[in-house]
Amino acid sequence: MKKVAILGAGLVGSLLSIFLSKRGYQVEVYERRDDPRHKGYVGGRSINLALSDRGWRALEKVGIAEKIKKIAIPMHGRMIHDLQGHLTFQPYGKEGQAIYSVSRALLNIELIDYAEKEEKVKFYFHQRCEDLDLEKKVIYLQDTESQEKSQISADIIFGADGAFSAVRLAMQKTDRFNYAQTYLEYGYKELTIPSLPDGSHALDKNALHIWPRKSFMLIALPNIDGSFTCTLFFPYEGKPSFATLKSSQDVTDFFKATFPDAFSVLPNLVEEFFTNPTSSLVMVKSQPWVYRSGVALIGDAAHAIVPFYGQGMNAGFEDCYVLNEILDKHLDNWEISLQEYQEKRIPDANAIAELALNNFVEMRDLVADEKFLLRKKIEAKMYELYPEKWTPLYSMVTFSPETRYSEALAKGKKQDAIMSEIMQLPHIEHIWEDLVLEEVTRRLS
Ligand SMILES: Cc1cc2nc3c(=O)[nH]c(=O)nc-3n(C[C@H](O)[C@H](O)[C@H](O)COP(=O)(O)OP(=O)(O)OC[C@H]3O[C@@H](n4cnc5c(N)ncnc54)[C@H](O)[C@@H]3O)c2cc1C
Repeated sequence: MKKVAILGAGLVGSLLSIFLSKRGYQVEVYERRDDPRHKGYVGGRSINLALSDRGWRALEKVGIAEKIKKIAIPMHGRMIHDLQGHLTFQPYGKEGQAIYSVSRALLNIELIDYAEKEEKVKFYFHQRCEDLDLEKKVIYLQDTESQEKSQISADIIFGADGAFSAVRLAMQKTDRFNYAQTYLEYGYKELTIPSLPDGSHALDKNALHIWPRKSFMLIALPNIDGSFTCTLFFPYEGKPSFATLKSSQDVTDFFKATFPDAFSVLPNLVEEFFTNPTSSLVMVKSQPWVYRSGVALIGDAAHAIVPFYGQGMNAGFEDCYVLNEILDKHLDNWEISLQEYQEKRIPDANAIAELALNNFVEMRDLVADEKFLLRKKIEAKMYELYPEKWTPLYSMVTFSPETRYSEALAKGKKQDAIMSEIMQLPHIEHIWEDLVLEEVTRRLS
């Protein structure tokens, strides 16, 4: 039986451990943080996440989806809040389709628990990977409590250690390794809308709430305890920006004028604004993801993206799913499988990185634009009438795991060109219902 060592017990490392243990490997996971089940979760990242079909497909494959459904809240569409506090609901897909808000901490704990109890995966906490010998497949660890150093070896090593991966750092020192790291000029800050006194949610809990304000936005996702976690995506510099909101009065005035209905349900706004960190948004691209036949990157360690399509974790879960399929196909021949894994996943990771960046403009600006909404309406109609021929880009990315991200990006670009022409037609807002939509969809093929 081969031994697999996974660095990082985050969302992707924990799920990967379940997949590989189910294949019969002896799996060990090394995590620099404490066990989240003992001392509470210390995440340092977003409090809740949107889980969608690509993620669900992977969770279903290992048999844990039903458990996770119990801690997930369906969000059927976007609820747009305008400057006056008026609401508009925009469904994400067809009736019944939804993305799900789930707590990062609870999801991580469920995955670790399941891996340990059901699959006999061994977890070692407060073990930080300091370095690796890629040739010999040796990992150098340090205990973050006792400072004791140790080393372990394995047949296969996975770096699931996030955007600042130590495994990737070791690979970066090898010849012809490509790497790019880019920070957005935006940061984010999390704030809380508490539950109402009766424990219910202060806003519609089955929607992802957005306050789009062109160059920045506030969003809110529901939690199962009746609260919402809000995230302000805001520039670091300029007017307005984190740099201009210096005093309690600045924050209060700004929120009152810019997000009036959110302001009324954020009782701890000022305190949270100055206590909670302002976190940065980083994108990472790397290639290759595999060193020889025994060390590989997965999840954010291979491809960190911006969060505007709600796909970072979903893409990482899909990495695990696809790797598992490839191992099936090649009867666990790791040399061939890891090559195929990176050949297949790198173009998809690059595609979702591009899509996620583009979606920031859509979320913060276009969702409040009349012409854009009309375009969405026309596309939704085509989807309803000819679902085989025209699936909107959002649905391909979010609800169609059988469509690769790279295919979705390519099709989306074609759709964009066709729809741009259509939207130029004079009086499109009056004539769109007379268009022969089947003909429009035919132009895609
Ligand atoms: C604001 C925000 C919102 C987001 N929203 C969504 C969303 O709605 N939907 C979605 O799909 N994705 C979302 N994401 C992306 C998602 O958080 C990541 O894609 C996901 O967490 C990646 O999981 P991972 O396990 O690869 O990495 P991580 O979650 O970063 O886990 C890496 C683990 O490795 C450990 N580690 C790091 N270095 C070492 C080391 N040297 N030795 C040992 N262990 C180490 C860390 O402690 C951590 O536990 C969001 C991200 C952000 C920042």
